[in-house]
Amino acid sequence: MTQQDINDIKQLLGSPKKIVIVPHKNPDGDAVGSTLGLYNYLKKFNHKVTVITPNDYPDFLKWLPSENTVLKHDYQTKESNVLIQNADIIFTLDFNALHRAGNMETVLGESKAIKIMIDHHQAPDDYAAYMFSDVSMSSTCEMVYHFIDMLGDIHKVDTDIATCLYVGIMTDTGSFRFSCTTSNTHRIVANLIDKGANNSQIHNDVYDTNTYEKLQLLGCALSNLKTIPESRTAYITLSQEELNTYNYKKGDTEGIVNYGLSLKNIVLAAIFIEDKQEGIIKISLRSKGHFSVNEFSRSHFEGGGHTNAAGGKSHLSLKDTVGKFISILPDYNKALNNE
Ligand code: 5GP
Ligand code: MN
Repeated sequence: MTQQDINDIKQLLGSPKKIVIVPHKNPDGDAVGSTLGLYNYLKKFNHKVTVITPNDYPDFLKWLPSENTVLKHDYQTKESNVLIQNADIIFTLDFNALHRAGNMETVLGESKAIKIMIDHHQAPDDYAAYMFSDVSMSSTCEMVYHFIDMLGDIHKVDTDIATCLYVGIMTDTGSFRFSCTTSNTHRIVANLIDKGANNSQIHNDVYDTNTYEKLQLLGCALSNLKTIPESRTAYITLSQEELNTYNYKKGDTEGIVNYGLSLKNIVLAAIFIEDKQEGIIKISLRSKGHFSVNEFSRSHFEGGGHTNAAGGKSHLSLKDTVGKFISILPDYNKALNNE
């Protein structure tokens, strides 16, 4: 983002605007935290601001400041579409290709609003008038902090904004342990705590709200864990039947893929989750070091993301998807064993 871009955006936001903020489908902590962080910032001015998510998000995010104002496009479709069609500005956060907004893709593409992208994924599409795209950032929340700073408004960050941004930095960095966490991330987090983010309480509210069934599902996933030592790979499967047994709710499988990566000598971990309703297998991939799961997912599983964390999908059965994965791996043995 150039100084000219910043000046333009300052000018744009200098008078009241109709603004819509959108995260990717199946929003996670960073998606919800960044959109609501930006929402709580923009609300300080005379703008009309609405966060519209493509679909619902996990219950453990349903306490963030102003979360109760969020529209879900798949439930409130008409109302959401009218807002998008009439918007002056649309911020797209934590994604960089319109298809990642699911069923909102068309209405977003057709909207004449000025689009501003804030995102930290690889290979951005070219749909936004202004792009703040940086893969070195831990999270979109960290970028929203920089964005507010670039606009000269860091003094406007209050407890609500700080809380939202803290959530996304915490979740996208795996509580500040993934390699995307930099000293600058820690500096920002320190500032957010100074601005009123209650770090211990936030961690508790996001991570310590497990249900008994969610832990049982984790147990099931761990007993399904398999390793392929020659490829330094671990993978987990969860069938729809297993999800049903443990009364699966959105968010219950988040983070499970990381258990595979915690094994000694493992540098690639995957989880394959059957979704009968959507007719797909949802795939999450994680890696250590230089092995790019973003490229791996783009090449084989219609997905993408970051070097060390990516998602994708498959239209094959669960068994055949795993079969495909296992059959591809030998091509990567050299790269995986060089880590
Ligand atoms: P997760 O495995 O937690 O769903 O996603 C890991 C990372 O990859 C996140 O940053 C997410 O935004 C991205 N991601 C997940 N699924 C997809 C996908 O289908 N396509 C792309 N391009 N990125 C994805
Ligand atoms: Mn993110």
